[in-house]
Parts: sequence; C-alpha cells; structure tokens
Amino acid sequence: MCGFLGIAGLIGRDIAPELYEGLIALQHRGQDAAGMLSFDGMFHLRKQNGMVRDIFRSRDMQRLKGHLAIGHVRYPTVGVGAEEDAQPFYMNYPFGVAMAHNGNLTNWVDLKANKFPQDNICLESSCDVEAILYAFAQGLQRTIGSDPLANRIHAAVKAAFKSAKGAYSVCGILSEGVMFGFRDPSGIKPCIVGRRESEEGVEWAVASESVAFDVIGFDRYRDLNNGEAVVVVPGEEPIFIQVADQKHTPCIFELVYFSRPDSFLDKISVYKSRRRFGEALAQQWRDSGAPEADVVIPIPDSARDAALSMAEALGLPYREGFTKNRYVGRTFIMPNQEARQRSIRRKLNPIPLEFRGKNVLLVDDSIVRGNTSRKIIEVARKAGAANVYFASTSPPLTAPCPYGIDMATEKDFIARGRTIEEVRDEIGADHLVYLELDRMINSGKAGNEEISEFCTGCFTGCYPTDDAEEHLAALSAERAAARN
Ligand code: AMP
Repeated sequence: MCGFLGIAGLIGRDIAPELYEGLIALQHRGQDAAGMLSFDGMFHLRKQNGMVRDIFRSRDMQRLKGHLAIGHVRYPTVGVGAEEDAQPFYMNYPFGVAMAHNGNLTNWVDLKANKFPQDNICLESSCDVEAILYAFAQGLQRTIGSDPLANRIHAAVKAAFKSAKGAYSVCGILSEGVMFGFRDPSGIKPCIVGRRESEEGVEWAVASESVAFDVIGFDRYRDLNNGEAVVVVPGEEPIFIQVADQKHTPCIFELVYFSRPDSFLDKISVYKSRRRFGEALAQQWRDSGAPEADVVIPIPDSARDAALSMAEALGLPYREGFTKNRYVGRTFIMPNQEARQRSIRRKLNPIPLEFRGKNVLLVDDSIVRGNTSRKIIEVARKAGAANVYFASTSPPLTAPCPYGIDMATEKDFIARGRTIEEVRDEIGADHLVYLELDRMINSGKAGNEEISEFCTGCFTGCYPTDDAEEHLAALSAERAAARN
C-alpha cells in the first residue's frame, strides 16, 4: 500500500513545498521510501528510501522547481524494497511521462517474464508502476498528432488498463505541461480530486486520500469513478474521461485500518464508518450474550474511534489503558514472530490502574497473525485484569491481499482453519467477538449507498479481479526466493 499526491498549481509558482506538506499527511500509507518529481519544462526528481521528513532538504526543494508536481510514499509489497523501487518514475518517451501509483498489478510476474523481454524493454526496478507507465506511454505514442488531449489520454489509459491487471490508482505528468490521474476499472484503490481557489486562480490536485488536501487548503472536489481518468491543464477546468466500465468494488480494509480517520473515501467518512463498526460490534456483543465488561480499552491507534462508540453503545466507560511509544518501528513487518512480539510489548505499555481487578474489553481493528492480541492480553493480565475480553472491528482475516495491502501469507493468518473458539484459545482471551462480515459491510455502505459492493477479499478469499489467485501464488514464490 502506498500514497500519492499530484498538484497542478498556478503557473509561475513552485508547488513542491506544498506537495511536501501533503506527503507528510500521507506518511501513514508508506514509510519505506518517498519521492517528489516536479516539472517546469524539465522533470526534476528526488527519491530515496526513508521517511518524507528525512529525505527532502532545502537544497532539494530549491531544485524541485515548477508548478506541476507529483509525490509518493512507499510501502513495499512487491520487490524487496530496494532504493531503485522508490517512486515517482519517468520516461522520456513519447516526449516525457512521469507517474506514481498506489496498488499492485496481479499480472506483474507475467509482464516481467514475458511482455518486457518480448518488447526488448529493460526494467529499471522491481516496481510494478513501470508496467503501467510503459503501457500508458505506448498508448500515448499511438495517438500523437493532432488528436485532442482527452482522446490521447483516453487511449493511453485504455492501453494501461489492457496491459496492467489488478488494483491501482495513478497520478502523473505529461511533459506538455499536463497533470493526470486515473483509477483502476474496479476502483479498488481510492483516488480523489481536490480544488483550491484563490484570487489568482484555481488549482487542482489528485490524491490517494483526502487528508492530503486538508493540510494544504484544497477542498474535496470529487472521487474518481472506477475506470475513470482526469486531466488537468493548468488554468483550465479539468476533463473527466470514463475509460472502462466495470463494477465498483472499493477496498473495505481502507476503512477498517489503513486510511486516516480524517479522510473521506468515495464520500465515506473513515471516522464515521469506524464509529459505525463500533456500534455494530456493541450490538453483536449484546446479541451473542457476551459477558458484561467493566471498561472498554482500545488498542491504539486505529481502533480508538470504534472502541469509543462501542463503549457508548454498551453504556460502559472508555479508557485509554495503553500508552503507545511512537518511536518503536513497525512491528507488523518484523522478520519473525519473536521480534514482532517483543516490539509490541515495547510499543504498548499499560496503565495498571485501568486494569486492576476489572473485566476489561479490549478492542482492535483486526487480528492478522494474532501477535498483537496475544501479547496485549498477556500484558492486560499482568497489569491485574480479572478477565480479558477481546473484540475485533472486522471479521476474521483469512486470505492474503493481492492488491497491495501487506497481509500475512495464508499459513500465517491465525483465523485460517480455526474456529472462533480456537482463536480465542490461541490468543488467551476469556471471550472473543469478531464483527460479522455483513454488519461490517453495512456499516461501510451506510456512508454511501451508491457503493453496492466492497472488495472483502482478505475476509472471504473472493477477489473482484480474475487473476488474483494466480498472482498470490506467484507473489509468495517471489517472496520466498527474495528471503532466501
Ligand atoms: P497481528 O498482530 O498480526 O494480529 O496484527 C494485528 C494488528 O496489526 C492490528 O493491531 C492492526 O491494527 C494491525 N494491522 C492490520 N493489518 C495491518 C497491515 N496490513 N499492516 C500493518 N499493520 C496492520
């Protein structure tokens, strides 16, 4: 999973400093690498492994000239996270196209093994955006001439859709001074257009999450539809082009865990959907005849909003029982179970006062391998809890994500092949409730009734695109080879 932001600013003004601010707001979407590319008649690029604040110095900002710019934060799910995989990428053909994306191509292994060698193309990296960039540039090349811009972008995006399968949203720049964005035919990955008006004129932006707009004073204009592209010529109204027409199935895990609560995705407030997950979970807690708790305690950060609304609905006090150390790195990607569990303990420290002698109900957004829940339950008991109950604001995760959310491999999911009672036993809880799939889906849909279906592949193993399973098999072979 990654994040991007593209801005078409006022002509004559350097936009990179604002792009930087927007990328900081998207940092939660990827902490492994970041990059910015600007255009003032030439492309200027700076990208590297690391966090946004550590990569860009004032000398970089001075070099990143131009009113058009795109930026990216990377969370590697394909490749080994090497320096050369950082985005954006650009190619000089035809005339110059730059691009950054969020997502995963499900036919990437096949493209690498077959299409690129056939076309005599040497890849620069193991980043799958290269495949989209190449197909897009080929599509563009075929139309060059007197065609209107909208027709050329239509052809280029169509070529990208034809070649690149999977889930991806893209932002980019053409060297003729145009910014563009597009969203995969199933609309699995979010993509939103923003607008800022001042006395000097109107500026446009495209991003993975609306929070990037808030911090730089852009308003949410509208989400791109699935299979839709947007083209922005600075100083003009944007052109929206519907390129493909399939069923829209946005990823529900964005609402559960990935996105910031202050973002809106497909008009759905992430914050409000988490509140609804909490209400639905409270209802389910009651319906299932679960035991009475004395207090609700969230596992920070992403479970907070749901835990608060669950506590309100159950008429229970809500307490912050864990203090999070923000300076402990990501536990989820540690190489082995032992390292992951050690980091969880360092990351979350209890306030014993909130546990001693109480029946505590811990709430988390999800249980993947079960490391967090197992460790946290142990910590809660050591802190003196009488009973430790656990509730997850999403159903059991049992299937990997082929679309770029870093999940465990099949065998690592604690809920795979286990009943809920067996998972409860494994994590050591006195009672365990997962939010049911339908209740989660309905809580998401309540934010936008036009969404008839979400991608729930990680809960069901049913994916909206047809080559997802092949991709997962190829991906796990590639990962195993990379580890060896
Ligand atoms: P686990 O310890 O493996 O059960 O992971 C569950 C915890 O990881 C929960 O607290 C989630 O908030 C968090 N989580 C879930 N999915 C992801 C992901 N794809 N990347 C990082 N953290 C995640």
